[in-house]
Amino acid sequence: MATNLEYRNRSISREQREALLRQKGCVVWLTGLSGSGKSTIADAVERRLYESGHLVYVFDGDNIRHGLNADLGFAPEDRDENVRRVGEVAALFADAGIIAVAALISPYRRERDSVRERIPAGRFLEIHLDASVEVCEGRDPKGLYQKARAGAIPDFTGISAPYESPEHPELVLRTAEMDADACTDAVIALLAGRDLLTPPREMSAR
Ligand code: ADP
Repeated sequence: MATNLEYRNRSISREQREALLRQKGCVVWLTGLSGSGKSTIADAVERRLYESGHLVYVFDGDNIRHGLNADLGFAPEDRDENVRRVGEVAALFADAGIIAVAALISPYRRERDSVRERIPAGRFLEIHLDASVEVCEGRDPKGLYQKARAGAIPDFTGISAPYESPEHPELVLRTAEMDADACTDAVIALLAGRDLLTPPREMSAR
């Protein structure tokens, strides 16, 4: 572990970067079972916000587990490390002024709470994509449940590994009851309601 680290004063602040982007940096954390709709909603949120002039970046298994976290598997300590690293990178993106969307199962409550603690107050929005194992298994968009039931995937969340629902999420989306468009609307309404889609107040005249 590195010691004696000092922070150097930086001449451009987060607020200045946010004024440039005309939005506020934040982390939107989508958690839920495989097949609950995380990737679908993350993609729809990015597209909708892009169309209204916002910079969003989505972190998901595809761009993270093939690169930054290619050394990690699905044992509990690897899942924790997966979440920790994505949390740190998402926190940096938020500090850059970007709306960082994480679409990760992130099954452990304690690990999600540690990410929340690393991000400034009000800038971490935990969203639970709440759909039952039965619903997710019925969708099985990637055929993973079928493989898990056949014993081909050990430690599969919802089947042979636990999922801990958030206790105080900023939003719960019951994706079996609301369609993807309505879920996307709700995420955008949450961001707008928290004033995250406007520049910092003192700089909005720029
Ligand atoms: P995850 O990323 O959580 O594994 P995906 O987004 O890959 O899940 O898959 C979710 C599946 O459920 C997709 O096939 C999607 O079309 C479907 N679906 C049905 N209703 C919804 C909804 N309200 N929100 C998101 N996805 C939904």
